[in-house]
Amino acid sequence: ITDGPADPEHDSTATYALDRSYVASLTRRVLSTNGETHAVSSPIGRAPLAHIPQSSPADVAEAFARARRAQVAWAATSLDQRAAALLRLHDLLLDRQDELIDLVVWESGKARKDAYLEVAHLALTARYYARTAHEHLDPHRVGGMFPVLTRAEVHRVPQGVVGIISPWNYPLSMALCDGIPALLAGNAVVAKPDSQTMLTALLAVQLLDEAGFPPEVWQVVAGPGPEIGGAITAAADYVCFTGSTATGRLIARQCADRLIGCSLELGGKNPMLVLRDADVHRAAEGAVRGVFSNAGQLCVSTERLFVADQVYDRFVDAFVSRTQAMTLGASHDWSVDMGSLVSQAQLDKVTAHVQDAVAKGAHVLTGGRARPDLGPFVHEPTILEGVSADMQCFGEETFGPVVALYRFHSEDEAVERANDGAYGLNASIYTRDAARGRALARRIRCGTVNVNEAYGATFGSLGAPMGGMRESGMGRRQGAEGIRRYTEAQSVATQRLVPIA
Ligand code: NAD
Repeated sequence: ITDGPADPEHDSTATYALDRSYVASLTRRVLSTNGETHAVSSPIGRAPLAHIPQSSPADVAEAFARARRAQVAWAATSLDQRAAALLRLHDLLLDRQDELIDLVVWESGKARKDAYLEVAHLALTARYYARTAHEHLDPHRVGGMFPVLTRAEVHRVPQGVVGIISPWNYPLSMALCDGIPALLAGNAVVAKPDSQTMLTALLAVQLLDEAGFPPEVWQVVAGPGPEIGGAITAAADYVCFTGSTATGRLIARQCADRLIGCSLELGGKNPMLVLRDADVHRAAEGAVRGVFSNAGQLCVSTERLFVADQVYDRFVDAFVSRTQAMTLGASHDWSVDMGSLVSQAQLDKVTAHVQDAVAKGAHVLTGGRARPDLGPFVHEPTILEGVSADMQCFGEETFGPVVALYRFHSEDEAVERANDGAYGLNASIYTRDAARGRALARRIRCGTVNVNEAYGATFGSLGAPMGGMRESGMGRRQGAEGIRRYTEAQSVATQRLVPIA
């Protein structure tokens, strides 16, 4: 494993300085009246990056009141007007990518390459929905049992004000990717990004303002999850939550009490299957990306790798050697392949999973250690063998750069083990026979299954719904489902006058 740049504190690759006026230009968008602030520090440097104003439950109520007033006029604009604003957002994201990437790296410590993918994902999301708006939202006529007698149209009516609660792992794309379709469908939004990555979320909101969205239709509040997130679920017309399964379960209960809808994008323990006929080099390349992208802090990242007996040794050689060639570091430098974890809490969880596995007999093929010499929360990419059901990392989501390798003898066995456990978010399959791969995919109980995907986990198909089965959540982002969830279907049926004989 190659060390990253030697002195991250004096790394000069970042282009934008986080001076006081820059930070103030971002934080003014937080609705906050109580004078309290929360310090955000960087996994790269040591000094606090910024102090973010905090919202009270009364501020959240005011945010909803403002959003509700603005939503009525917003919903009355034409779909083309709203789509045009999204295309301007797309262009701004590309024009301002250096600034966005700098901020994402400052706040999350991730590799610059991973931050770049966030910008790309968000820009593509904006363009995808702008271009497909009519396809998803236009009213359509339906026939019925007696089409001669009744003319019926189905309209898509916005939910109203959508509450969006998002995590820190993809601070830029999570800030807006669920909000974009909500706005396009004529809703207003009250958003609570994670406290650790507020500045990035606020820069994204600044771009929304510049793209021409009325500022009142996107309200931002800040503060601890249970208090401020709870105030959101108490007032929203629909909730979109991304985060842990434990919090998702809580939010589902609160929404059920109010009889409002919600979508929950939760955790995963995602399997990859390498079949006996796979190109092992391509599979190893996919495994490196699938396991170590974003230092494994990715809901769809691979944490369990099932490899056919016949290719096991060759695959392991290729995977381990590619992993060992990665450059690590907490730095703005483009040369970093895998960046830092986001916080001490994440580092502690990853360390605990590795130590628990080793103490119970697992074998470390590569990695296994924290690397404080490269940054306070850097952990080596880690491949484990001999993981068994009594170890934490067997069924629990690690959410870090750790994967367990298992050998399988038949495809039936591989499918059964892939389907084992509570989660059902994402899976991937490597085989030279793509048709066989697709047939096998249908037997795996995950919201998405990727066959021979270069990234292990797919980002490419924005038209394809993405989300979890079982404890990985409910509802879908992306595609038609990702926008229609923010609408109610309203049927308008007109009876034709039929002369009665
Ligand atoms: P988390 O549930 O602790 O926090 C996520 C968000 O919820 C934060 O903004 C937090 O402040 C807020 N929150 C916390 N408690 C709350 C409460 N009681 N009521 C309302 N809001 C509350 O999750 P995390 O640990 O920060 O994020 C990592 C998790 O997110 C992982 O499990 C990961 O798999 C999941 N994730 C899923 C997806 C997906 O699309 N499925 C994407 C990214 C992350």
